[in-house]
Amino acid sequence: MRPREWSAAQMARVSFLSRRRHGNFIDGHEVEPGSGAYLPVVDPATELTIAEAPDSATADVELAVQAAQRAFDGPGWSGMRPADRERLLFRLSLLIEEHADELSALETLQSGKLNGLARAIDVGSGAEFVRYMAGWATKLEGQTLQNSIAVPPGARYFTYTQREPVGVVGAIVPWNFPLAIALWKVAPALAAGCTVVLKPSEETPLTALRLAELAMEAGFPPGVLNVVCGRGAAAGAALAAHASLGKISFTGSTPVGRAIGHAAIENMTRFTLELGGKSPLIVLADADPQEAAAGAAMGIFFHQGQVCTASSRILVHRSRYQEVIDALGRAAAGMKIGSGFDPEAQLGPLVSKRHFDRVMGYVDGARQEGAAVVTGGARALEGGCFMQPTVFADVDPQMRIVREEVFGPVAVVMPFDTEDEAVRMANDTPYGLSASVWSHDLSAVHRIVPRLKAGTVWVNAHNMLDNNLPFGGVKGSGMGRDLGRAAIESCTELKSVCMSV
Ligand code: NAD
Repeated sequence: MRPREWSAAQMARVSFLSRRRHGNFIDGHEVEPGSGAYLPVVDPATELTIAEAPDSATADVELAVQAAQRAFDGPGWSGMRPADRERLLFRLSLLIEEHADELSALETLQSGKLNGLARAIDVGSGAEFVRYMAGWATKLEGQTLQNSIAVPPGARYFTYTQREPVGVVGAIVPWNFPLAIALWKVAPALAAGCTVVLKPSEETPLTALRLAELAMEAGFPPGVLNVVCGRGAAAGAALAAHASLGKISFTGSTPVGRAIGHAAIENMTRFTLELGGKSPLIVLADADPQEAAAGAAMGIFFHQGQVCTASSRILVHRSRYQEVIDALGRAAAGMKIGSGFDPEAQLGPLVSKRHFDRVMGYVDGARQEGAAVVTGGARALEGGCFMQPTVFADVDPQMRIVREEVFGPVAVVMPFDTEDEAVRMANDTPYGLSASVWSHDLSAVHRIVPRLKAGTVWVNAHNMLDNNLPFGGVKGSGMGRDLGRAAIESCTELKSVCMSV
C-alpha cells in the first residue's frame, strides 16, 4: 500500500512551502546563497521534492557570523535588560505555539515524523523550553568569594565572579528533532545574551528558517538569530572552524562531533557535543516481562528508532529472556506503519532514502553474521522510506549490529545471568548517553545505577527528558550538557574580579 498523499488542504496550511525555494536568513532577512546553489528537501513518505534550501559555502557563513557579531556588539542587544530578553523569548514561545499546525506539518513533511510527535515534542516541548530559558535570563548569578591574598602586607581585596555571554554561538543540529534541538541551542544562547548562527541539517532546514522569521516577529533585533543552510562538509565545517565564535554547540554523530571538537580547539572556542548512543535497557529478574517489553518497544521504536537515546540493546535476565523476546516481537509485528499524517500510524518513514539504505545495510549485515530475526527486517510499504520494526536475537557482542549506532527501528536482545554481567554488558560500548533499569528491587537498582557509565539513567522508564534535567553523554556520546541550568551556563564565561579596597 502506498502511503497517503498530501491533501490539498494540508498543503495549503503549510503556506511557508508555497515559496518552495528558500534563502538563508541573515541579519533579519532572507538572503540568497552566494553560489546560487540549492539542495532539495525531500518528503520521505512520498520521495517528492517539497522545497529547496541553500547549499551554502564559506562566504555565506561569513556573512552570517559577521551579522551575529554586529548584533552582539550593538547596543540594541548588548544593552538590553535581561528582563527584556526574557520578554522576547516568552513572545517567541507563544508564537511557536500559535504556529503549531504549520510547524508540525513542516516537520512531518521534511522528516516524515508522526505529526502528533512533531506537535508534542518539536513544537510543544520546544516552546516550553523557550519559556523555561526565558526565566533563566533574569537569574544568572555570580558569587562573592572569600580571599586570603597576603600581598602587600595589610592590603585588602574584594573578590567576586560574574557571568558574561560568550559571544556568537554557532549551532549545528541534526534531522531527528529539527526544531526541538535547534531550540535546545538557540534558547539558552539568547537567554544568556549571546547571538546565534544556526546550521540545520541539509535534510530538514524548513522549521529552522521559519523559526528565524518568528524570532523577528517576536521582536528580536536583526542579526541576533541567523540561519545558514547547507551540507555539513561545507557550511557546517566552515561554521565549526570560524575563529570568531564564542561557542560551538553541536548535536549529531560521534565522528562529526570529534571533527568539530578538533576545529573548536584550534580556535580555543568553547564547545558542547551531544553525540550518538547505543543505549542499554536492562530487565532484571523481578521485572514484569510484559511491562518491560512494552517499555522496550517504546524505547526502540519511538520515532522509528531515530533517537540518540533509543534502547537499541535490550539486556534481559535469562529467566525472563524468552518472555521479553516474545512480547517485544508481538508488539513490533502489531505496529501500524504509515504516513506521518495518518493519525493511526505508530511508525512513519525513515528520514531519507540514504538513511533507509544505511539501516537496511545493518539489518542485512546482521543476518549474514548469523543473528536471528525475531520479527521485521524488511521494507514495510511499497513507496517511501518505510521499514518494519525489527528485533534480533542470538547475537554476538562483537557483531556490528550490537556495537554500532544504527539509528533505526532495530533492537538486539541479549541474555545475562548476574547483576555484574548486566553492568559489564551495559558498559561494553564506546557510547555513554543513556541507560535504563527495569526492576522494583530498590536495592538492586541503587547498586546498578551508579555503575552505569551514562549521562542519563532511567528506572522503569526510557527516553524521558525534561527541560530542567541536564542532558548529555559521557565517553563517545559527547561532552557538556543541553537543557537545564547547565545549558545557559555553558553559554557564559565566568569572569573573576579582584578589587583592592
Ligand atoms: P550528522 O553528524 O551527520 O549531522 C549532524 C549535523 O552536522 C548536520 O547539520 C550536518 O549537516 C552537520 N555536519 C555533518 N558533517 C559535518 C562536518 N564535517 N562539519 C560540521 N558539520 C557537519 O548526524 P545526523 O545524521 O544528522 O543525526 C544523527 C546523529 O545525531 C546520530 O548519531 C544521533 O545519535 C545524533 N544525535 C544525538 C543527540 C544527542 O543529544 N546526544 C540527539 C539527536 C541526535
